[in-house]
Amino acid sequence: MNFADSEIVASVLKNHNYKIIDDYKNADIILVNTCAIRDNAEQRVRNKIQEFKHLKRKNPQMIIGILGCMAERLKTKILDEEKFIDMIVGPDAYRDLPLLLNEVFNGHKGINTILSHEETYADINPVRLNKNGVTAFISIMRGCQNYCSYCVVPFTRGKERSRDAFSIVDEAKMLFNEGYREITLLGQNVNSYYNNNLNFAGLLQEVAKINPLLRIRFATSHPKDVSEQLINTIAEYPNICKSVHLPAQSGSSRILKLMNRKYTREYYLDLIHLIRSKIPVATITTDLIAGFCTETDDDHAQTLSLMNQANFDFSFMFKYSERPDTKAANEYTDDVPEEIKIKRLNQIIALQNRLSLQSNKNDIGKIFEVLVEGNSKRNPDFLTGRNSQNKMIVFPKSNFKQGDYVNVLINDCTSATLKGEIIKKQF
Ligand code: SAH
Ligand code: SF4
Repeated sequence: MNFADSEIVASVLKNHNYKIIDDYKNADIILVNTCAIRDNAEQRVRNKIQEFKHLKRKNPQMIIGILGCMAERLKTKILDEEKFIDMIVGPDAYRDLPLLLNEVFNGHKGINTILSHEETYADINPVRLNKNGVTAFISIMRGCQNYCSYCVVPFTRGKERSRDAFSIVDEAKMLFNEGYREITLLGQNVNSYYNNNLNFAGLLQEVAKINPLLRIRFATSHPKDVSEQLINTIAEYPNICKSVHLPAQSGSSRILKLMNRKYTREYYLDLIHLIRSKIPVATITTDLIAGFCTETDDDHAQTLSLMNQANFDFSFMFKYSERPDTKAANEYTDDVPEEIKIKRLNQIIALQNRLSLQSNKNDIGKIFEVLVEGNSKRNPDFLTGRNSQNKMIVFPKSNFKQGDYVNVLINDCTSATLKGEIIKKQF
């Protein structure tokens, strides 16, 4: 989401004749798009900006701005601690950046952290910062009002709002015409998308119909809002990718209730069952939090057993991090000791590594259609790309290029990657 937001920022500034350069050390203006989801995300930003502070000592004219969720959460408090910062800009104020820069040129601080109920940046054509020219993000909605009790997003990104459906379809068409072959529709909870009489399944269909050669992915699906219509739509269209990211957070219904996730373990597993029965080839991935308030060994064991039952292909796994102002921070006690959180997280990671390795081993001998994304970073004699299931596949180079679809026979794997060889060109 931040990556897509940075593309909006780049576009706003480019339209005002600012130039984007590759090496920040040579920049006159450095804007840091920040995340506030966990404390360690904020600590990383704090470390990084110390580096910018040194650059600014050498070049006092340099302008440094903090953008995004950390700016929204801390507002002018950052300025009390880091006096060299010139701008504080929240996620709904990016149109204001040129004006805020003028403020700074006139010797003031540039500050706008007002959240909006309407802003979707629908009319702004993002500058694509991903250089592969094949895959791109399209932001379809902003904000979130689910108020999961651990989560800072509703406070930093404001009310949920859906972007105009026509502008999304137009952006996808434009990307396809420019040579892009895979788009990812982004929102905090895409399943609650609604605009112009289209729900999310309807929007997916409209985008899928643009061209069979355009692959569509999406993130993120809140389990409580996944509809059968959505599952049927994914099953029906070959170019809607067969991978569903469905954050579970915990395998314990008691913890899920405390988290305000609005589903139980049983509901979640039923949903997995439905998806696997309607789309047997689909991969299912998840997000998990270890050590939420009051989590016992038994709750944790239920998370491990949920992972086994759901047989996740991949997970993003986190240690609970208390975020100020959330319900969990205000009403619960962050009472799981750090070493227990780390121990549980490590167990979750170890189990996921086993599940991912098994999932990849099951693919050995299969043939997948792979969209070529570019050269392998590790070995220039190899290409990389993904299959519909969103697994990264590495294979020896031949005369194929970025954006081509190739058929790859899988012959080896690690827990993170599939390896194979091209068997024939598909398109
Ligand atoms: N809107 C998405 C999630 C966005 S945040 C959804 O609901 O699925 C991405 C992930 O960060 C969450 O799924 C959760 O697993 C994790 N996360 C959010 N707040 C957290 C916190 N306070 N501590 C640890 N992990 C957190
Ligand atoms: Fe946070 Fe929950 Fe909204 Fe996801 S759905 S962004 S976890 S509040």
